Amino acid sequence: MNLASNRLLLLLDDIFEDWFGVELPRPVVAMRGFKQEDGCQWCGETNRLFEPCPCGGRRIRWTRVFRLGSYAPPLSTSIMQGKYAVWPEMLSFLGKQLGDRVKGCVPPNTVIVPMPMPIIRRYIRRIDHAYVIAKHASKQCGIPIRRALWRRESTPQAAKTASMRKSLPSSVMRIRFCPRIKGKNVLLIDDVLTTGKSLEVAANQLKRAGVLSIQVAVLAVTEMPQKGKKL
Ligand SMILES: [Zn+2]
Repeated sequence: MNLASNRLLLLLDDIFEDWFGVELPRPVVAMRGFKQEDGCQWCGETNRLFEPCPCGGRRIRWTRVFRLGSYAPPLSTSIMQGKYAVWPEMLSFLGKQLGDRVKGCVPPNTVIVPMPMPIIRRYIRRIDHAYVIAKHASKQCGIPIRRALWRRESTPQAAKTASMRKSLPSSVMRIRFCPRIKGKNVLLIDDVLTTGKSLEVAANQLKRAGVLSIQVAVLAVTEMPQKGKKL
């Protein structure tokens, strides 16, 4: 499906809703033509033809990354709309897709932990996107969810440059009271994996709290330039 016909479908979708009050399954329309595509199982980036993934020399704090695809349209546009236009239906749709992807692929005794959002930011944005995604993924794959992490206010990672992102202090995240994660395998869920710094801080805190293993599931992974890679 090319971009023009996709736009046409979205336009028709809008017209139907405005004129007839009929709400069509818009996330399905917006994501038409998208195919789930795995990346490198360690860092999540798109696999390169004929060459090993450059993540080989890096220290990675989790055992696997699940993703729906790389951060490109229509997936990237849909994530942006879900986050900033506060479109929970889109996030729940994508969350279910992620639930389908991880179903049967994680070890027994796994719990889903959503990446936390600071309270004030959540109030301003009116949506805790990682939680919405995690909640629907959890429903879809039957893995219980534990909101084990808490995050204090700090500059959002999205507003920082790549070099600023690397310097995220570990004190921004803490384990909540009674997290019920000790001895469990954790599947950390977030919307987009860019530098991986927030996920890394979260993974370190979870390990300190006694979890057995950590895997990561995100909707999309940003393709990074060769230099200044994750970590
Ligand atoms: Zn890799």
